[in-house]
Amino acid sequence: MAKQPAAQNPPAESGDALPSHLFRQAVEQAALAISITDARANILYSNAAFQRTTGYGQDEIVGHNESILSYRVTPTLVYETLWAQIQRQRPWNGLLVNKRKDGTRYLADVTITPVVNDAGLTTHYLGMHRDVTEVHRLERQVQNQKTLIESVVDAAQVAIVLLDEQERVLLDNQEYKKLIGDLGKEPAVKLLAALRTQMGAAFTNAYEHHRNLAAREVCIASPNNTTRWFSCAVSWFEEHDVGADAFYEPLRRHYLLLTIQDISELKRQQEELRINGLRALLSEQERIQGVRETLAGAVYQLEGPLNMLSAVAHMLERRLTTPTSSSGTDGVGLLSASALEEAIQKSREALEALRACIPIQSRKEMQAVDLNEVLSDLLKLTTASLLGAGIVVEWLPSDKPALVFGHPAQLSNLFKQLLSNAIEAVNEQRGGRRELRIACTPCADYIEVFVEDSGPGIAEELRYKVFQPFFTTKGAAQHHLGLGLAMAQEVVSQHGGTIDVDPGYHHGCRVRVQLPCLRGTSHV
Ligand code: FAD
Repeated sequence: MAKQPAAQNPPAESGDALPSHLFRQAVEQAALAISITDARANILYSNAAFQRTTGYGQDEIVGHNESILSYRVTPTLVYETLWAQIQRQRPWNGLLVNKRKDGTRYLADVTITPVVNDAGLTTHYLGMHRDVTEVHRLERQVQNQKTLIESVVDAAQVAIVLLDEQERVLLDNQEYKKLIGDLGKEPAVKLLAALRTQMGAAFTNAYEHHRNLAAREVCIASPNNTTRWFSCAVSWFEEHDVGADAFYEPLRRHYLLLTIQDISELKRQQEELRINGLRALLSEQERIQGVRETLAGAVYQLEGPLNMLSAVAHMLERRLTTPTSSSGTDGVGLLSASALEEAIQKSREALEALRACIPIQSRKEMQAVDLNEVLSDLLKLTTASLLGAGIVVEWLPSDKPALVFGHPAQLSNLFKQLLSNAIEAVNEQRGGRRELRIACTPCADYIEVFVEDSGPGIAEELRYKVFQPFFTTKGAAQHHLGLGLAMAQEVVSQHGGTIDVDPGYHHGCRVRVQLPCLRGTSHV
């Protein structure tokens, strides 16, 4: 060592636990770069670690000011603060950009402690520092990555929110903040509750075992009473606790990342497409129904006279083949009877050919059908005509799904027929109430649907007749074949239900349909 600090090795005093040279050895061998300066920062001593950090050996550095280490980029204010602090005899700690002997720079984490003598004067300073360039680089890198992730998350078009296991929000993005504006606090908690209700045990199980959930569609009511649809995905990740107590016994914390995409508009478009599809299906069915009715009507109309002709032919044949005393069998008459028989036979064949042309109803697989959905879809379809006719509609769906086992298209057709009849009946009425009331009520083992109208009603004696084919209370001028209710009854019978006109209803007409509820879904 070229130079030594002013103080020589003091002899170990009796009573001192440690010999004083031990202090020197400890400083000498310390891993931190240590220097001791006078009151003006002139270096008197530096240890081996100082040389490793700065490149300056003790013989080169002693006598120089600590400013030799300055890279000349640290702001003056930092030095002023440093000096102000140590001159008040308080230790100072901070970061300084230093220069090594070889000219390279490094970031030094410096602590300067004033050494105060018995008279209370600062005689020396103890400087300790270490190179924290790498630590700082890593910290900055983490910070940069965090900033990058935050800006990516913020720019995302989906709402993203990070929750702890108590469902407290730790991080969110701009889209999520917009959701708070729309749905109130706390959208994530509301959506998780909705998922829990919708998925039941499957959600609880996945949640408890921190399993991810792929996009699930869920709907919630917004404060302004509109239904909003969201697609939610849940991802879990775990993090090691950063607390000191978890240093040797790692603790894992789980975090839930919820990504939320508003799909209300998509759902609205899908619903519009579905309703349009249903409209197309129903109008196709209506067309087929029209053809069926026309052909069935023609067959029915032709059958009457043909039966009469047939009866006449039989009578003629009997008379001609019975010999009388005055005249024998009439040869010409027999010939005409056989021609008539042949004509009848040809007519019957033509009638059968006509009957074969009647399109059969499509027989798709039976399935669970929710009558609530069928009726509300039909009401959506008829909204325009109801509004146009100024008819007030009261729709009372059941609070639970009204499930029956049946053909969706046929059931739609059935209720469409009943609704059309009801609208027509209301339109017939001049003045007075213009009201429709549709109610769907699950009973013990069947679902009951009422279609009520404030029209003229159906006379007591016609209550059963209206279900007969070709019976109509309307004139032929209105193009009514009288097959609508017959078709309705056919569909109801095929589904094992009943249909009638309620005799107890006197404010118009109430058609009552009862259909067996889907097995296993008894509502009482
Ligand atoms: P200077 O003129 O030296 O100082 C800049 C400002 O500091 C001045 O405007 C003044 O306000 C204040 N100042 C400087 N000296 C004094 C003084 N004696 N009394 C009151 N105020 C004063 N600097 C580093 O860059 N790297 C180090 O690793 C480092 N270690 C140090 C260790 C110790 C123990 C001490 C006491 C100081 C250390 N310094 C260190 C500070 C160093 O002494 C210089 O103050 C600093 O480097 C700035 O030097 P300068 O030549 O740019 O300006």
